[in-house]
Amino acid sequence: MKSILIILCIMAGGIILPQTDKYQSARIRMVKTQISDRGISNTAVLEAMKKVPRHLFIPGEYEREAYEDYPLPIGYGQTISQPYIVAYMTDIVRPNAKKKALEIGTGSGYQAAVLAEIVEKVYTIEIVPELAKESSALLKKLGYKNIIGKYGDGYKGWPEYAPFDIIIVTAAADHIPQPLIDQLAENGRLVIPVGPPSAVQELILVTRRNGKVEQRRMTFVRFVPFKRL
Ligand code: SAH
Repeated sequence: MKSILIILCIMAGGIILPQTDKYQSARIRMVKTQISDRGISNTAVLEAMKKVPRHLFIPGEYEREAYEDYPLPIGYGQTISQPYIVAYMTDIVRPNAKKKALEIGTGSGYQAAVLAEIVEKVYTIEIVPELAKESSALLKKLGYKNIIGKYGDGYKGWPEYAPFDIIIVTAAADHIPQPLIDQLAENGRLVIPVGPPSAVQELILVTRRNGKVEQRRMTFVRFVPFKRL
């Protein structure tokens, strides 16, 4: 009886600690040196990035570079953003457990997973059908029940679930799609890289307060182009 109990306890321990993987120390180091040391102090963002196994969102050949300080290819000419950029974008949209978010450009699903650790629900749209399928399978496997993804052109947003408190666009557009501004809730925050493709773009933060829409330039970034169907 005693030995059965001990075995059960060991099994339970394994279930309680699913984040113990071979990259855990690399992940904790990444969060310290690349994110908190660079000024991001939002505990929810730091905890989420300590938890999400970034290496699982990256093709096998680059897996060992998953926690390095740069973006990586995810196939189909697309990239997963540098960890700091994911943290920065997540931080400036002020996520919390009551918020509903929309992401345009699911890609690997990593940004959606980081957001889903903090907010109530994440809706995410991806224009490359293979990436939409692969990311949705991975997010399901990892147990994210609060992420709903679909294949499609995110330009028009997702009117059925609007308005959104948070909208994160992870591909660079030459202008801010009006449907996304229209789907931003009161006190909502939208972040989007705006500028020419294959060059430096500006990250723009759009806010809506008392019905008034305002835009602020935040920093310079480099994202893959926003495409249209
Ligand atoms: N957030 C992603 C980053 C992926 S790169 C991650 O964490 O991995 C940006 C993604 O935006 C690409 O996968 C690209 O195919 C997608 N994309 C580009 N234009 C789009 C559009 N109009 N609608 C939806 N997705 C788009």
